[in-house]
Amino acid sequence: MSPDETLQALGDVEHPGDSATWTNEAGTVRLVVEVHHDEDASINDYESDGRISHYVSHRDGHDPRPEGFTGRARKLEVDRSGFVWWEPYAEGGWWDGLNVAQQRAEAQRIADLVQSGFVGVSLDRQTKCDQGHWHSEDVASLWGIDSLAGGYMREILVDLLAEVSV
Ligand SMILES: [Zn+2]
Repeated sequence: MSPDETLQALGDVEHPGDSATWTNEAGTVRLVVEVHHDEDASINDYESDGRISHYVSHRDGHDPRPEGFTGRARKLEVDRSGFVWWEPYAEGGWWDGLNVAQQRAEAQRIADLVQSGFVGVSLDRQTKCDQGHWHSEDVASLWGIDSLAGGYMREILVDLLAEVSV
């Protein structure tokens, strides 16, 4: 099989629940890629995304910052779950070099990520037995992915394809 052809067939998945299948010409080997929700991954696992904390609004309108959060922290609106506190990156880091529009865009990316969550990608290499069933031979996966957009899915696939020894 040509790698390009495989990537073409499998690389067009992006959201949890998406899947794609590629079967070789002889009909004896197939690859199934699936995108999953990654419930275990959190923004707080990755220093590069800053830190979030649940937002608690008090009746008197006093909304204290979470412990350890500084004056740099922002309240981000997240559609379904209301607000979260977000502390951007360490002081003096690249965040401070962003202009207002860039900071707003980055804050929006984080808000979107809080809402949609992280994803995982699995690749299952299956072979067909004499009775015509597909049996899983090897599975590789990658988790804690913030976005599969912008060609990243293909990069992941290249790695996963190497792992299931296609
Ligand atoms: Zn069988």
